[in-house]
Amino acid sequence: MRTFPHRNTSGKDVCPICKSNKDGETVLIAIEGIQEGHIAQAIQVHLECLDLQWNKQHNFIYQKIGGFSK
Ligand SMILES: [Zn+2]
Repeated sequence: MRTFPHRNTSGKDVCPICKSNKDGETVLIAIEGIQEGHIAQAIQVHLECLDLQWNKQHNFIYQKIGGFSK
């Protein structure tokens, strides 16, 4: 996974997990269903916000976000 030391904060987008655009190490996550050829649109997610799990049955790596409390 390619990481970037800083967010691109020029846009209005926020990290979908913490809902902020604070600076920090960032990864690009492709948006499912939005892909043209080899070009995918992606969102910026703070590396520190990721807490991925692997669903062995469906072979997904995922993180459920929002809508529930820990
Ligand atoms: Zn975040």
